Amino acid sequence: PTPVAYLLGHREFYSLNFMTTPAALVPRPETELLVDLSLQLCAHLDHPRVLEMGTGSGAISVALLKQRVGIDLLTTDISADCLNLARQNADMHDVRLNCIESNWYQNLHGQTPFDLIISNPPYIAAEDPCLCRGDLPAEPSLALTPGQSGLEAIEKIVRGAGEYLRKGGFIMFEHGHDQAPPSRELLEQSGFQSIRNIHDYNNLPRVSYAQLP
Ligand code: GLN
Repeated sequence: PTPVAYLLGHREFYSLNFMTTPAALVPRPETELLVDLSLQLCAHLDHPRVLEMGTGSGAISVALLKQRVGIDLLTTDISADCLNLARQNADMHDVRLNCIESNWYQNLHGQTPFDLIISNPPYIAAEDPCLCRGDLPAEPSLALTPGQSGLEAIEKIVRGAGEYLRKGGFIMFEHGHDQAPPSRELLEQSGFQSIRNIHDYNNLPRVSYAQLP
């Protein structure tokens, strides 16, 4: 069945209305956690420089820009269709999004360091039966599954982050309910400290974040 959000062409996220198309994942309520936590981490910074990787519909970035003036936000996606959708959502909410088409860090060379890198990456293992349930078969598999283990995108994001974060900068990402331990391990291996995991509204481990020393 086609997800209701694709039929209607919009979905609410963070109390804002977003256009939705089959090019991008439908925004999920649990992903609002990324917005809340990003706002907390940026609260003490004057002009936080934030990178959102794999923005899809642009919902996370647009919600951040609506909540907090003065954020310098760069968003990426591998899909030009997603970036077009993200730009339309930014225009609709009258905020400015800088977009770069990029396969994770591939086209980001030369960017000045970020205070915060955030992502809701694909994290479902390729053979996970949940991909056959509910709305998921109609959503872009590029946005849902990164490969066999489900951790491939998180691995790339964490391992590449050191080059793009300032000292003391944060990385934060959404993950599957059983991916908090491997996420912690990856963060430790990449030299991150103060690793935290936050549960979602269903009390499942959902977001991990950590700081570069
Ligand atoms: N949380 C989504 C789901 O399980 C998946 C989102 C994602 O892979 N980033 O429906």
